[in-house]
Amino acid sequence: MRVLLIGPPGAGKGTQAVRIAAHLSIQHISTGDLFREHIDRGTELGQRAHTRIRVGLLVPDEVTIGVINDRLARPDTERGFLLDGFPRNLRQARALDGILASSRSRLDTVLDLRIPEAEVVRRIAGRRLCRRDREHIFHVDHSPPEVAGACDVCGGDLYQRDDDREATVHRRLEVYRSETEPVVDHYEAQGLVTAIPALGPVQEVLDQALGAISRSQGVAEDC
Ligand code: AMP
Repeated sequence: MRVLLIGPPGAGKGTQAVRIAAHLSIQHISTGDLFREHIDRGTELGQRAHTRIRVGLLVPDEVTIGVINDRLARPDTERGFLLDGFPRNLRQARALDGILASSRSRLDTVLDLRIPEAEVVRRIAGRRLCRRDREHIFHVDHSPPEVAGACDVCGGDLYQRDDDREATVHRRLEVYRSETEPVVDHYEAQGLVTAIPALGPVQEVLDQALGAISRSQGVAEDC
């Protein structure tokens, strides 16, 4: 199963991606997480990425496509993968089409998480991540940890991403509109996109996402 998860910052991509990938037993691949791991390790790639990430701009395509190319070449993706945060522009989408064509595989479905922009800003301002495992995500109002500042799952410190500050969020939304929305059109033209309203509770959004995936499996089997 090869799934893309697209949506503006704050739509809940990370939260849903972890659950969908676990449900399908496929790899969750987040370019944002891969960059943050490089930043934490202080690699040259991480430094290059950080100068763009902290101001809300995209990391250059040659860096991003290289990272994804390497990641998709690993054997653990053979069963499938869920891409979270890639592709974010048309050049990346075409590069992914090429990578898949060269391994004679194709995408099964593209889930487009939809959410009003005002909600994006509200969600991101309160978002807190676990320093030990960034897949543990909280919100100061809507899903607060039991102990303030500590992760419920592993006890790690919670922190706010430096690109989650309000001014940066507006920049990221502009980038989403101009660069990433055309990617949705690119996959619409291939009949792969299902829009998922992402405003509701996590479980409701997840159920819709899993429903769309199983419908796409039915379609793939019919082909
Ligand atoms: P995310 O965790 O997906 O919100 O990504 C955080 C930041 O990492 C983004 O705002 C971009 O600066 C950078 N980033 C993540 N994925 C990509 C991508 N596919 N292309 C370029 N930059 C990316």
